[in-house]
Amino acid sequence: MTRPLWADDEYERPRLAASGPVRVRVPAKVNLHLGVGPLRGDGFHELQTVYHAISMYDELTARRGDTLALTMEGEGAGQLPLDESNLAIRAAQALAAHAGVPAHARLHLRKQIPLAGGLAGGSADAAAALVACDALWDLGLPRDELSRVAAGLGADVPFLLSGGTALGTGYGEQVSPVLARSGTWHWVAALADGGLATPQVYAELDRLRAVGTAPPPLPEPSTLLAALRQRDPAVLGAALGNDLAAAAVSLRPQLGEVLAAGTAAGALAGLVSGSGPTCVFLVRNAAHAATVAGTLDGAPGCRAAQTAHGPVPGARVL
Ligand code: ATP
Repeated sequence: MTRPLWADDEYERPRLAASGPVRVRVPAKVNLHLGVGPLRGDGFHELQTVYHAISMYDELTARRGDTLALTMEGEGAGQLPLDESNLAIRAAQALAAHAGVPAHARLHLRKQIPLAGGLAGGSADAAAALVACDALWDLGLPRDELSRVAAGLGADVPFLLSGGTALGTGYGEQVSPVLARSGTWHWVAALADGGLATPQVYAELDRLRAVGTAPPPLPEPSTLLAALRQRDPAVLGAALGNDLAAAAVSLRPQLGEVLAAGTAAGALAGLVSGSGPTCVFLVRNAAHAATVAGTLDGAPGCRAAQTAHGPVPGARVL
């Protein structure tokens, strides 16, 4: 029998007073393995990825209101639109349409996940809005139903509902948990100035593959999955991989320097996160993370370095 996504994280749906406010915390994700298939006729790439939720968070608060409105503070405030092009608003609208209730809520987003950073911050906010509005409107939707609404919003959104470490297939929206009890891994994230647009990075990968200068595509993630089971950070470090890395570095050559600076600072391995430009570094433990972050902070191409650990649960009511 397949286990439901949320079976292993002691998640209990709180039956909150529908008057709110409802506060939800949602993590960022990195891809420990990101295998990108060839471009398909529908313009998409088939993915094989291993998602991993890390302890960098956005927080979304939902209150009762007469309309649907969004305010924001933190990363991207003043830059991101607050209308229905914002994924938090789109998620609230999709949930209301699915449940047949009016989309009435006042949402406030405290954003710490950098914008267009390859950490899926927008998808995280969509997942947070689904969980917050589900509680605010007292819908109590089963998780698999919420997951289906999530898949309509973006490939990474279903994973950000569940969190943990999970295998993603299809466009990444088909998620199955792996090794819920594989221990804790420690990371340093090197945040960049400015983002990279995901579609541009995929287009660059297609270009590099067409001219024959892309590295060979990653094989299936079996080595990575075996490495996770060994609980040895040096073994995991050797198994990390991302087909988008070459494209991200081609568009932003400075990422090569950031990756080199992280390993020179003592990290076991460095990885472009998703479509970049954030780079993440695997380290031995929390103390090692603090040392590496201290060295990387403010290095060329690194606006700030943050320590994190994973896996952590997905969007949860606080
Ligand atoms: P991914 O890895 O999922 O492709 P990313 O981490 O590189 O994405 P995001 O921060 O998720 O990037 O943002 C991608 C784009 O989504 C942004 O450039 C922005 O235009 C749009 N967007 C819409 N709503 C949000 C939101 N709440 N937070 C961040 N971006 C949003």
